[in-house]
Amino acid sequence: MAEKTVIKVKNLKKYFPVRAGLLSSIAKGEEKFVHAVDNISFDIKQGEVYSLVGESGCGKTTTGRLLTRLEDPTSGHIYFHGKDIAFLKGKELKEFRRNVQMIFQDPYESLNPRLTVFATVAEPLIVHHIGDTIDEREDLVAKALEAAELKPALEYLHRFPHELSGGQRQRVAIARALVLRPEFIVADEPVSMLDVSIRSGILNLLLDLKEKFGIPYLFITHDLSVARYMSDRIGVMYLGTLVETAEAEEVIHNPHHPYTRALLSSVPVPDPYYKRKRKKIKGDLPSPIDVPKGCRFHPRCPFAKKGICDKKDPPVVEVEPGHFVKCHFAKDIPAMDEAMEAEMEENVELGEELLQETMNSSDEEMEIVEPQ
Ligand code: SF4
Repeated sequence: MAEKTVIKVKNLKKYFPVRAGLLSSIAKGEEKFVHAVDNISFDIKQGEVYSLVGESGCGKTTTGRLLTRLEDPTSGHIYFHGKDIAFLKGKELKEFRRNVQMIFQDPYESLNPRLTVFATVAEPLIVHHIGDTIDEREDLVAKALEAAELKPALEYLHRFPHELSGGQRQRVAIARALVLRPEFIVADEPVSMLDVSIRSGILNLLLDLKEKFGIPYLFITHDLSVARYMSDRIGVMYLGTLVETAEAEEVIHNPHHPYTRALLSSVPVPDPYYKRKRKKIKGDLPSPIDVPKGCRFHPRCPFAKKGICDKKDPPVVEVEPGHFVKCHFAKDIPAMDEAMEAEMEENVELGEELLQETMNSSDEEMEIVEPQ
């Protein structure tokens, strides 16, 4: 793994105010906040894929938006090559945005239906005054499209989004992110809206680009099988906090946090014929407005101890070198029994098998959809 740190996040918080009247539990004049991201710290190194994993609403996407400065943090630090960019404004913020790009979940929404592929991919060049002539910009756009495996680029330049398949649209979005030669990319669930048969093509493209250009990624996903396939390291988020961070294989084979174990036992398997005993986590996800005191997982944790877990915020403990767990009993949680371990292994492997099965079936997306 490369050594140089590109992004370092320290004690990052994002609270969104909730207006009185929006929820019946909020009295007039009372101020409440959604604790979307609540004091998280991690770093991403050159050429590394760091995945954030967790249920929807855990704060993954907000973290991605903070790192690209599409959102302003409430407090904390985001160091990019050592410089704190958390509260940059004006020219400096524009310069930072040139180096950092985001690929969104939904290629149907992220592309303007009225812009051709050329106009879409050239837009960032115009914003950042790159390329003096139309020919120069066309050349840069063509190179980005070809890097995103839309070849020959000329076939695509003058098409509109409705003339492309879902996979091709996501490749256009990737080309748009690449055209500025970014130094860091946030990919927010980039395949979750795509047909299963074309997901692997996009995932492999992102991995190829990482190899070719050494671009580090923050990869956001709810799917641990995908995270394992893509990542060097994984961070597990629960209700705005990071509860476990380690190398991908360590998280999969040696999870310590009870929430990570529960997540592993419920890896989504898109196979209607596969029946298994899914371990449901007890209770519902608490509201990010009224976050439980102490460990925020305690109302659902089978190992919670009264008087400790419901009172004190747990420390982050390094259980093995490079493996961090936010739990009062990180080193004492009983080891998983063999049956539990086997089930988790089976779940992740099954998810991966299904991913592998689609590996060779992505040719179809390269066909151009004829205009209607
Ligand atoms: Fe469970 Fe307590 Fe650990 Fe939280 S701190 S995960 S409640 S054992």
